[in-house]
Amino acid sequence: MTQPATRLAIGGLVHETVTFLPQDTELEAFEHRAVRGDEIIPAFAGSNTVYGGFLKVCQDNDVTVEGLLCAECAPSGPVTAKAYDTLADELVSRAVLWREEADGLLLHLHGAMVCRGDPDPERTLLLRLRSVLGEDFPIAVAMDLHGNVGVEKAMLADIVCGFRHSPHTDMAETGERAAKLLMGKLSGGIKPVKALARPGLVLPSIFTATEISPLRDIMAEMRAEAEQPGILDITLFTGFAYADVPEIGATVLAIADGDEALAIRTAERLSARLVEAREALYHAAPLYDPYAALDKAAALLAEGVRPVVLLEHADRGNDSTHLLEAMLARRVGRTAVPYLHDPIAAQAATSAGVGGQLMLTLGGKSSELAGLPLLYTGHVKFAAPLRYRISGPYRTGEQLDLGQTAVIDDGDIAVIVTTQNVTAVDTDPFSQCGLDIDEFDIIALRSKTHFRAAYEPIAGAILIVETPDWGPADLVTLPYRNAPPGIYPITMAPPDDGLDDDI
Ligand SMILES: [Zn+2]
Repeated sequence: MTQPATRLAIGGLVHETVTFLPQDTELEAFEHRAVRGDEIIPAFAGSNTVYGGFLKVCQDNDVTVEGLLCAECAPSGPVTAKAYDTLADELVSRAVLWREEADGLLLHLHGAMVCRGDPDPERTLLLRLRSVLGEDFPIAVAMDLHGNVGVEKAMLADIVCGFRHSPHTDMAETGERAAKLLMGKLSGGIKPVKALARPGLVLPSIFTATEISPLRDIMAEMRAEAEQPGILDITLFTGFAYADVPEIGATVLAIADGDEALAIRTAERLSARLVEAREALYHAAPLYDPYAALDKAAALLAEGVRPVVLLEHADRGNDSTHLLEAMLARRVGRTAVPYLHDPIAAQAATSAGVGGQLMLTLGGKSSELAGLPLLYTGHVKFAAPLRYRISGPYRTGEQLDLGQTAVIDDGDIAVIVTTQNVTAVDTDPFSQCGLDIDEFDIIALRSKTHFRAAYEPIAGAILIVETPDWGPADLVTLPYRNAPPGIYPITMAPPDDGLDDDI
């Protein structure tokens, strides 16, 4: 007698919520990229995404896939209750439809989603799924390294795995880790038990690059610990500093094979390492203000170091103008600004047409901290709707839709304006818009860590620019209200430096 084939349901609801941003995230933003039912396999098979990883394990094990709903949008402000309820209702209803047929659920969550009226809607979603699927229904969740993962949320799933790299080049690998553990549990080969330890700190995203020490060294220790007998998986979540929620902060999550004490010891040991290194983790690279960065860039260019990547990392809306304002005032070299989110500018450039000249205001529209809209005059070099599959190392193969997109160039500074809010992290903006990347001395990006996968090999230098925006490295400047006591550095002062304060 042949065994009945395994069937797994696949779905996800993914958003990294910056609670400080004034604009809510509406349903429309998720619908733009939502994939449902039978569309899920062709959309994600073979891609370096969590779903790509889920699907690979399913394919390798002849698992039948039931697609639920995969909804995601770019990091932005709090999700409206309506958007969340609509998407969660659909996901839960589709799960109910497959409850009898499916043997388990593979779910992708970010770990730092927040909606109006609910600081932890992922926990609420898992509670709803548990209530309809049952306490014993196997659920594996793959999450982002930047998750704020509290105990209650994690304990609602049987298996929780998170990205181990930032840039997140291991999305598919993480989906595979979670799916393989779920398959092991279903076959009875393993008995996953989880333990969490929380070190009481949160890292600004810019310092979560996993190839920069000391995080690099702690990640290496984590991977070594994951190889010890009895341990099935470990994730070190750095937390997401820009979601002001009670569960904010880093988490070490260890999964052992039946041995809860081993899982606890392992999680606590790595958590203690984070506590020990917390000050160094918070000062992992130098920060420049815009003009200091341009001075440094000019000096590097004079030495023949190019291109220089300037990183306006604190921009959480992809339209901040602090750095652009300085670049327009002090023209240091041939400069590219890929993917400035400005639908009005994209439309104006399209109306002017390729070759046309126009004067317009650029950027600075998403919040009062995004800088002023800047007056800019240039020629339109490119204008078209842009939709392509990502060729870079981050999210390789995933379809990207920027809407109407244009290159406006004043001879020194070429700005690519987009209709959709997308962060430039690879060299696709250049190839897609007909620009030669070798022409540019300076490339101004707004990524935090993901750009490193494509740009570290080609950049002469990378300078981190700190601006007074919603995603700064200096977290103590942000108005936290919900973070609990004891989260370094936001609700716990750095240790006394031994110096007397000025009186
Ligand atoms: Zn992330």
